[in-house]
Amino acid sequence: MAQRDKTARTARTKPGSTSGASARAGAEEMEARQAVIDTALAMSRLGLSPGRSGNVSARWGTGMLITPSGLAYDAITPADIVLVSQDGTWDTSQRLPSSEWRFHLSAYEARADMNAVVHTHSLHATVLACAHQPIPAFHYMVAAAGGTDIPLTPYATFGTAELAGHVAAGLARRNACLMANHGAIAIGPSLPAALALAAEVEVLAEQYCKVLAIGAPKILSETEMAEVLERFKSYGQKAQG
Ligand code: 13P
Ligand code: ZN
Repeated sequence: MAQRDKTARTARTKPGSTSGASARAGAEEMEARQAVIDTALAMSRLGLSPGRSGNVSARWGTGMLITPSGLAYDAITPADIVLVSQDGTWDTSQRLPSSEWRFHLSAYEARADMNAVVHTHSLHATVLACAHQPIPAFHYMVAAAGGTDIPLTPYATFGTAELAGHVAAGLARRNACLMANHGAIAIGPSLPAALALAAEVEVLAEQYCKVLAIGAPKILSETEMAEVLERFKSYGQKAQG
């Protein structure tokens, strides 16, 4: 089943609940919690989140399911994933959510079409973010983020509402951004899509760093990128009927 279907539900059942009609919703929530963990583990395996950096969430009803703060991904279980409500509250008997819960919530608020958020400190994306260098259309694949570049959002302290505001503004026009002196963020209609985009951003960042090292990049024009963006609408295999 598509992530969108699962995460569009409004189940509020606690992990493991089996009472009456809520049992199925509880099982679905457990599955969604595991999908967040699997994505965080894959992010780690891909080398996108050194140490305990980065975090992952999935839209869940009007709120979200998010990784807990500061725990190694290979040590967490579905019960450690935190259900954060739309108003930024959570059950205090749960783990503490990622310190970046504010920008995850603001991403969902800014983009009703998106259901998953992956935040990384991947090496080359972070190098560019620390040099305050957005990724221009040096390669046509920047269109994977939904536009003609991968923008850089201004610096603000991690975990703050100010950072959440910057991230929401960046994501209003793109599906991925670099975050100044911090890292990168990617969103998607599903967890696999958000993770794939986070990995693509890192590939593009590495390529761009290497291009910058050998000379001035040749940037594609607005017209050339408009053609790419048009082609991206029909790129790939058609959905099976
Ligand atoms: P958390 O462990 O609180 O998610 O923090 C990691 C991080 O990347 C902060 O920006
Ligand atoms: Zn971070």
